Amino acid sequence: MKCPTLLFLALPLAAAFAGLLGCQSNEVTGREQLLLFSDARMVELGQAAYAEMTGPGSPARIVTDPAFIRPLEEVGQAIARAANRPDFAWEFRLIDDPATANAWALPGGKIAFYTGIYPILQDRNGMAIVMGHEVMHALLQHGNERMSQATVGELARVAADAALRDARYRGEILGALGLGAQVGVLLPYSRRHESEADEQGLYLAARAGFDPDAAIGVWERMAALSGERPPEFLSTHPDPRRRIEDMRRWLPRAREIYAQSVRQPNAPLPAVARPR
Ligand SMILES: [Zn+2]
Repeated sequence: MKCPTLLFLALPLAAAFAGLLGCQSNEVTGREQLLLFSDARMVELGQAAYAEMTGPGSPARIVTDPAFIRPLEEVGQAIARAANRPDFAWEFRLIDDPATANAWALPGGKIAFYTGIYPILQDRNGMAIVMGHEVMHALLQHGNERMSQATVGELARVAADAALRDARYRGEILGALGLGAQVGVLLPYSRRHESEADEQGLYLAARAGFDPDAAIGVWERMAALSGERPPEFLSTHPDPRRRIEDMRRWLPRAREIYAQSVRQPNAPLPAVARPR
């Protein structure tokens, strides 16, 4: 019994040690990040996923009406200019789905919004808050970090599986380990990613010339929409109330940045009727 126990301990440690080799300090946040994949590989993965989710042959209906895509393009490009990363090939696509109030970012600067988020954003300033958040996920390499964490978690799981092959309670132990990895390693990072993207995204939107005070309304409308939520502990997104509290703490700095910026024109977004 000694050997499997040792193996059980040694292999995850080896995996974690290998992970340390990929640790880097982020230049924006100063936080140490586990990044096991090259930028080129992440850009490749981002492009492939973007094509799969929004390209020809994908189930997504891409909006081409200029009244809807012009604000997305213009706010996106203004935020991208403020981000000052010409090495990113930024792209902004709008998916026609009034029931989905969401937006996402892929590595390399591939962004998508759903029309269902327009009523929550209301105007260009509101759009800039979520755009800043999404652009920050890409800039801060959250996709790479999340994949790196999952890889280390998977290595540990495979090691444990091998070590426990003959053990009687293998299934239960592996189940507990899986839950442990989710709650203990992956989810807290994910909430940290959300919080980081919220804070840095707010400053970025302000630097690009959009009013950061729009953030409170955006997250209040988001909170009203989300209704019954799972408890924050097991959720991958921060509790909207906590998000609003955090925003209030970051707003003074964001307002200072906004005061120095070249203002962008604000205008309401075209109306989207949300299905009941
Ligand atoms: Zn996010």
